[in-house]
Formats: sequence, structure tokens, C-alpha cells
Amino acid sequence: MKKITVAKGDGIGPEIMDATLDIILAAGAKIEVDEIEVGEKVYLAGNTSGIASESWDTIKANKVFLKAPITTPQGGGYKSLNVTTRKFLGLYSNVRPCASLHPFVKTKHPKMDIVIIRENEEDLYAGIEHQQTDEVIQCLKLISRPGCEKIVRYAFEYAKQYGRKKVTCFTKDNIMKQTDGLFHLVFDEIAKEYPEIENEHWIIDIGAAKMADTPEVFDVIVTLNLYGDVLSDVAAQIAGSVGLAGSANIGEECAMFEAIHGSAPRRAGQNMANPSGLLQGAILMLNHIGQTDVAEKVQNAWLKTIEDGIHTYDIYKEGISKQKVGTKEFALAVIANLGRKPSVLNSVSYAKGNALVLPKYKRREPMKKDLLGVDLFVHSVTHNPNELAEKIKKIENNGIKLSMITNRGIKVWPDGFKETFCTDHWRCRFKPSDNTHISKSEIIELLKDALNENIDVVKTENLYAFDGKPSFSLGQGQ
Ligand code: NAD
Repeated sequence: MKKITVAKGDGIGPEIMDATLDIILAAGAKIEVDEIEVGEKVYLAGNTSGIASESWDTIKANKVFLKAPITTPQGGGYKSLNVTTRKFLGLYSNVRPCASLHPFVKTKHPKMDIVIIRENEEDLYAGIEHQQTDEVIQCLKLISRPGCEKIVRYAFEYAKQYGRKKVTCFTKDNIMKQTDGLFHLVFDEIAKEYPEIENEHWIIDIGAAKMADTPEVFDVIVTLNLYGDVLSDVAAQIAGSVGLAGSANIGEECAMFEAIHGSAPRRAGQNMANPSGLLQGAILMLNHIGQTDVAEKVQNAWLKTIEDGIHTYDIYKEGISKQKVGTKEFALAVIANLGRKPSVLNSVSYAKGNALVLPKYKRREPMKKDLLGVDLFVHSVTHNPNELAEKIKKIENNGIKLSMITNRGIKVWPDGFKETFCTDHWRCRFKPSDNTHISKSEIIELLKDALNENIDVVKTENLYAFDGKPSFSLGQGQ
């Protein structure tokens, strides 16, 4: 018996949760439900994160959390419960299966059956933003080796558990050679450990276009946070079934399962809502905790019910559907189909899978780190790079020379183009003229001299080589 935390949420949440629990318990799920309150009531009682601290204790103790959608009250100051939960519990992996149910649910892509596995904690979603000059604001994109290794390994393990044939990696490493480059590199490293699963890499732009056009060529897709966020909504939409999709958020210790839709407040309390999205979340949960036989039984019964044309209002179509039902009746129809398999849609077979147990991330030996120079980011309203260079060169000392100025990444000095548009935010790169190392105290001297010369340094970035390999970007055009 596995104890799980359940939150019935707001709007249609309680109805779809009751339907989901009825179905999985009827199928023989060995779970004990530990209920907590999250969402609107908790927010309105003055808790800005929508969850009480005792509820965190329950979630952490049980480790598995099935959550119905919640309503975030209008007005500022309320923090997203989903984002908080992902970050607090280290839920690094977001899994969203998107399969079409042709010909029972309308879609342009009858053969689509993909799973998007999205990194969930890093990338631009670290939310580290700073305005540095009148004209320029920065958002830091942070990518870590543990982050990449964990998500890529999860994608291959998922493919193995579900009998998937191929894992495709999407990045933009032709532009972001270091950050996306690391994700791609780690993908190639880990793919070698799974020779039975095909692997490939696509640049995200053309990959996304291909997915929207011909999704049947993809199987499992693993990608970084922002790309995955956009791509998974596109995938759910083109599968024709945003309201039918569930998702899993997986961490090393804890995991949360949910529907991808919201609390649909206008439909609440009317026995109208489709419980399928949350049921899909619950099926992911059953597989995650190793109750794969129950997951298989529920999924096949659900597919059979869709195939029988027993549909809630949101997917009901004259000519295709046979019977329009409410939430409870839909659940009863799925329960009546337990033990049956679909005949047109592909049935699933999960029962041989085990709970996904991923190895803990092993930290590597520290690398050799050499300081090769520094970038000073300067706020200057002088829009002529040559004039700016004259001023900046005044702080050169001890053989540490200004080697380059860029503006929004493009080299503008030396030998810039007068056509290049410049903002008030400049990157001034200093390196020793003999191309050896510099010290942190030399950087401090540069900063002191900048202060004396009235140069407005808004931030610095050290230029390192790791294990002898320079690990910073060149200026575009350098
Ligand atoms: P929504 O997903 O609740 O509704 C969008 C549309 O889809 C509505 O027409 C709704 O009636 C319909 N719909 C959604 N789920 C359905 C279901 N299971 N069966 C039948 N029809 C369904 O999105 P929204 O209206 O933008 O948001 C409503 C509330 O939900 C907001 O407070 C929002 O913050 C919240 N929300 C919560 C989550 C979450 O908890 N994970 C996610 C998204 C939105």
C-alpha cells in the first residue's frame, strides 16, 4: 500500500479528482489517500503561496502528490503554487505525453504519439533578472551539468520503461554553444549507455517546425526548460486534446502528477468536466510507483471508453460520439471497461515495467580552473565605440589590455561596422597582452581605476579556462 498526498483543488478539481480516484481504486490501485487543502481558500486566508506549511510536511513524507487544478485568485501578490512546488521539491523533470485519439477526437495528426520531457528547474526560469542600464535588462540562463544529466537520463529511462524506440534532443547549440552545447554534449554521452534506443539531435527551430508538421517522426523528445514549455503546449494542442493531457513532475525524492488544464471555474459543480487529463496524470503516477499493471488496465479501459464514443461535452461531436455523459457517468463507463482493450486505438502494455529508479547524480572531480581575463560591462551613453575605447583604454595596466568591445554580443571595436546599432550597454574585454593569466587583485585594480576615470561598470564576468579549454563566448564577428 502506497500512501499518496491528494489535493482536490478548486473549480472542477473535486469532481475530476473523485472520478479519477474511483477509477484507479476500482482498477486495484494499492494506494492510501492523505488529503491536503491547497489553492484558492488557502490563498484567500492570507497564505500567498496557496499551501500551508503542515501540508508541505505531508507532501514530503508521502513523496507522491496527485494534484487537481487550482484557481489562483485575481490580483497581485499570489505566488504560483506549481512553480513553488517544482522548485521546493526539486522536481527537475516535466513529462507530458501527447497522443492523438484519431478518429475519436479531431486532429490533423492521426498518428501522433510523442512524449515531451522538459527540464523543469533551470534555464531562464531561474528568474534572475537585472536592469543594468537605461536601455538594457538581462535575464540569466543557467544550465548545470547535474541538471542536464538528470533530465537526459530520465528521458532514456522513461523510453526504456515505456518501450519507446527513439529519444530526440532539441537545443539551439549552433548559437548558445556553451549552455545548449552542454545539454547536447551530455545527451550524446548518456545516449551511449542506451544502445538499444535510437537517438538524434535537432536544432529547436527546425525541430519544432517538423514536430508541428509531422509529429509522427518523433517519439520521446528531451529539451531545455523554455523550449519544452512552448513545445509541450504546441504538442498537446496539435494532438487535438489539450483537455485530455496529464503531466508528471519528477524529482529525486518527490513527484507531483496533474492534468495540464486549469480549474475551469465556469464548469464547476455541474458534473460536466472531463476527468481524463487528471486520470492521465494518475496513470503516470501509477507507473512511477511501480503499479504498472494497474496503470495498464486503467489506460486500456480509458482508450476503450473513448473509442466507444462515450464522451464528455468538451470532446462530444455529432457523428463521432455516441453518448454525451457527465463526469460521474464517464468514470462509471471507464470502470465498466476495466479489463477490456481498445480495438481501433493502440492498446498499451506497461505491466512489465518497474518503478523508475534513477541513480543519484555523482559529482565529478573538480576541473582545473585558470583565470584568463575579465569582461567589464559598462553603462555608457557614448554611442561611438572608438570614443568609448579611448576612454576605457585609460585603465589598462600591468600589461592587461582592452582586447575587444561588444554591444549586445556583436564586436564593435576594434574594426566595427558603423552600421551596427549600439545600445548604452557595452562589454569591454580585458586580457593580458601575453595571453597568460590574470589575478583577482588585478581585476580589483582595473575596477578601482574605472571608478577614478568615471567609468560606470555595471557588472563583471571572469573569463575562465576549465581543464585548459577557454570557456566563454567570443564576440560575434571576432
Ligand atoms: P482552464 O484550463 O481552466 O480552462 C480553459 C477552457 O477549457 C475553459 O473553457 C474550460 O471550461 C475548458 N476546460 C478545462 N478543463 C476542462 C475539463 N477537464 N473538462 C471540460 N472542459 C475543460 O484555463 P483558464 O480558464 O485559463 O484558467 C482557470 C483557472 O485555472 C485560473 O484560475 C488559472 O490560474 C487556473 N489554472 C490552474 C492550473 C493548475 O492548477 N495546474 C493550470 C492552468 C490554469
